Amino acid sequence: KNLSSAQVRQLFLDFFEKKGHNIEPSASLVPYEDPSLLWINSGVATLKKYFDGRVIPENPRITNAQKSIRTNDIENVGITARHHTFFEMLGNFSIGDYFKEEAILWAWEFLTSPEWIGFDPDKLSVTIHPEDNEAFDIWMEKVGLSEERIIRLEGNFWDIGEGPSGPNTEIFYDRGESYGNDPQDPELYPGGENERYLEIWNLVFSQFNHNPDGTYTPLPKKNIDTGMGLERMVSVIQDARTNFDTDLFMPIIQATEKLSGAEYGMDGEKDTAFKVIADHIRTVSFAVGDNALPSNEGRGYILRRLIRRAIRFAKKINLHRPFMYELVPVVAEIMRDFYPEVTEKVPFIQKVVKNEEERFHETINDGLAILEEVIASERKKGSTVISGADAFKLYDTFGFPIELTEEYAQEHEMTVDIDGFGKEMEAQRERARSARQDVGSMQVQAGVLSEVTAVSEFVGYESLTSQGEIL
Ligand code: ATP
Ligand code: MG
Ligand code: MG
Ligand code: MG
Repeated sequence: KNLSSAQVRQLFLDFFEKKGHNIEPSASLVPYEDPSLLWINSGVATLKKYFDGRVIPENPRITNAQKSIRTNDIENVGITARHHTFFEMLGNFSIGDYFKEEAILWAWEFLTSPEWIGFDPDKLSVTIHPEDNEAFDIWMEKVGLSEERIIRLEGNFWDIGEGPSGPNTEIFYDRGESYGNDPQDPELYPGGENERYLEIWNLVFSQFNHNPDGTYTPLPKKNIDTGMGLERMVSVIQDARTNFDTDLFMPIIQATEKLSGAEYGMDGEKDTAFKVIADHIRTVSFAVGDNALPSNEGRGYILRRLIRRAIRFAKKINLHRPFMYELVPVVAEIMRDFYPEVTEKVPFIQKVVKNEEERFHETINDGLAILEEVIASERKKGSTVISGADAFKLYDTFGFPIELTEEYAQEHEMTVDIDGFGKEMEAQRERARSARQDVGSMQVQAGVLSEVTAVSEFVGYESLTSQGEIL
């Protein structure tokens, strides 16, 4: 079957609507009343209020296509075929209603029935938790999957500390030998870090309460929470080598080809640049569309970092001027039918992106020149470490997010003294604090004050990258 991404998304929602689910609209990427999350990173993240019992849903069966941002996968973007910073998660949820058997049988029906996706069942295999014999029996006896295609994996347990937790089962599509056929490869099995067996869907069975004392007791009302990556499904359905080679990304890549004069599909390093740019502009367009803005802290810092990262990659395809803002209408057009919010805000998003690009362009070349010098001089000394002071100077004077300096260092087989950088940040914060006190006593205008605080608001690279995964 050849289906467009829009059709796949719609089929999923239609399927679960037929199974008695209410369709919930995609919620904002900016979490609502949830300080524990920087971004909505999965379908279930917006439904927490139902899962923890704060709100009783109208219908205990819910389905959605939820826009999601994950920064933990940023290093993989453009390298693996399957990771994005922004992606859509399709999900079906049961709040104390149906459980394992329906969840598994429906997933199988959706994937394999010719009326729906119609995958060849022989291409699918699954992983389960080693102790989840219930899931094993359903896969083997009810679905009819053969034993060797049900793999027991220790990691298949969803647990975020206190609260609901439970085993999960993941569904993998075998894309064939051209994606890896080395029988000696210890990772070549569903759930191993390979992309021949592509993880498309995760079904979580939340059946235990993780108690404060560390014990687990069965939940009186068990829940289902599933997440399927739309981009991955579409890549399989459209027989695309990577998620990027689908109708969700190709128009962005083609627009970038035009802007740069470079060609996609000719050179690995350039292709990575095309993919990183396409990925990051989607994330930024949607995030700004949901009213997040680039800044020096929290969410805003991530947007800033993504834009600056894309600009750095753009140099590999000879784009040395602001250009990302020109891709915003392309993103909007691809997503218009399901996410009109981006289309409605194109001029605003473009303005924000362009402004941010211009700001960075003013200093990036000077910064890169300094970085090259630093690297050369460390090498001369026989060192492979960029000092905290140098990294800080790049951050403070040239606007280089520390992660950008780290990645650049990595490309040159060097590392960055992060502790040293942290100390410089702290010293800076201290200076800002005492400056603020001085200024305060002199009753200077608030404008100056806010500039001083902006510098001191860096929240640290750890808190930015260690967002917990929900599924
Ligand atoms: P992977 O092991 O491939 O990194 P995951 O196990 O971390 O994926 P889950 O947390 O189980 O992913 O999320 C549910 C589904 O969402 C996945 O099966 C996948 O289809 C999709 N997904 C997860 N992370 C990403 C991402 N960064 N980009 C695109 N799709 C994703
Ligand atoms: Mg992951
Ligand atoms: Mg996984
Ligand atoms: Mg998973």
